[in-house]
Amino acid sequence: GAPDSTGRRELLERRNAAFAEVQEHYYDAPPQIERGWREHLVDTDARVYLDMVNNVTPLGHGHLGVAAAVNRQLRRLNTNSRFNYEAVVEFSERLAGLVPEPLDTVFLVNSGSEAADLAIRVALAATGRRDVVSVLEAYHGWTYASDAVSTSTADNPNALETRPDWVHAVEAPNPFRGRYRGADATRYAPEAAARIRELADSGRPPAAFIAETFTGNAGGIPLPDGYLAEVYAAVREAGGLAIADEVQAGYGRLGDWFWGFEQQGVVPDVIAVAKAMGNGHPLGAVITTREIAARFRTQGYFFSSTGGSPASSVAGMAVLDAYAADGLQAHAAALGRQLKRDLEELATRHPLIGTVHGLGLYLGVEFVRDRETLEPATEETRAICDRLLELGVIMQPTGDHQNVLKTKPPLCIEPGSADYFVEMLDRVLTEGW
Ligand code: PMP
Repeated sequence: GAPDSTGRRELLERRNAAFAEVQEHYYDAPPQIERGWREHLVDTDARVYLDMVNNVTPLGHGHLGVAAAVNRQLRRLNTNSRFNYEAVVEFSERLAGLVPEPLDTVFLVNSGSEAADLAIRVALAATGRRDVVSVLEAYHGWTYASDAVSTSTADNPNALETRPDWVHAVEAPNPFRGRYRGADATRYAPEAAARIRELADSGRPPAAFIAETFTGNAGGIPLPDGYLAEVYAAVREAGGLAIADEVQAGYGRLGDWFWGFEQQGVVPDVIAVAKAMGNGHPLGAVITTREIAARFRTQGYFFSSTGGSPASSVAGMAVLDAYAADGLQAHAAALGRQLKRDLEELATRHPLIGTVHGLGLYLGVEFVRDRETLEPATEETRAICDRLLELGVIMQPTGDHQNVLKTKPPLCIEPGSADYFVEMLDRVLTEGW
């Protein structure tokens, strides 16, 4: 039978006892989730929640196409990519077909952390250097190198004091609450470029500049126009590589662009991608040029037992098939525009909404106590998320101030569900939380 609230608490206690504590859970009293379908999650009391945060499942939960492809493949063959089988070749070809020239060479891994880590190792090996430039407020993963370049203090207040000395962070180019706002946000790029030149002049030229191509973790905020063009030019001028972290921004979520770097009008040297690629099945990739990949060979070793396995490869292809069949990117563009308009309309009536960031179906509703001082409404954001849960909407805070609603639902979300989110947010902001 379905566990009652005592059962739910017991499971939570067992989780807290057996599962390393650093792996926090959403909510103080989280529902016990049992199944998912499209943009919905269902708990053990058969309560249905609208999942507004799951960018790992663009096709939605419980996708039959992916389930059938993986099930079939697991019964037929699942092994490592040192064997020669068709799926890994076909999937790699399809990924290479999604990126502009000269990018043409794929490494398959199992997660975003692995992809970011490998992207960094490729850059270190290709340049023979050890320094890397990253951006403040960023998250790139939990492995040694991907964690090293992660500067977000949202989950780790000590992040900045504990980065290794080969990591050099430039300012977060936040046009809303950063040092340069609005039209002045064009000033972040020359400063980042100057920092890169300074490092080169001091005898520590960077191997790479790594950044999300759209600031996902920092609040769903697009980079200022021309930002990546200028910073990529500076790092290349200094002999380093441009790494694009597309783990959140890529794969059609931004609507008008399949990749975040397209929105910036640039082509990176190395791309790290994951999350959406497998619709929840562990899957990630590094995409680069043949020449850069060949230089990695001189210094590094790469083999992954499960990266690019037959099951993972067919999962990845089933995801791409569903994107095409369901027109998910176009849907993200159209519904994202509508949702942003609706949220902006709420902002005209609710002063707590400082602004609505974002593109496509990656939006960020930023709450402030005062539109002049921009004081972050951190506690209010937490309380609003808790109240939204009671109203059947799963939503979480993001950003270093934890005052932005990370609005990134499965791309398959129905317009009616987006409306429900807006109505419930309106209700919470009107009635209180
Ligand atoms: N890069 C970015 C931008 C991310 O948001 C994340 C995960 N939140 C990662 C890398 C790491 O991905 P994973 O959790 O799949 O290891």
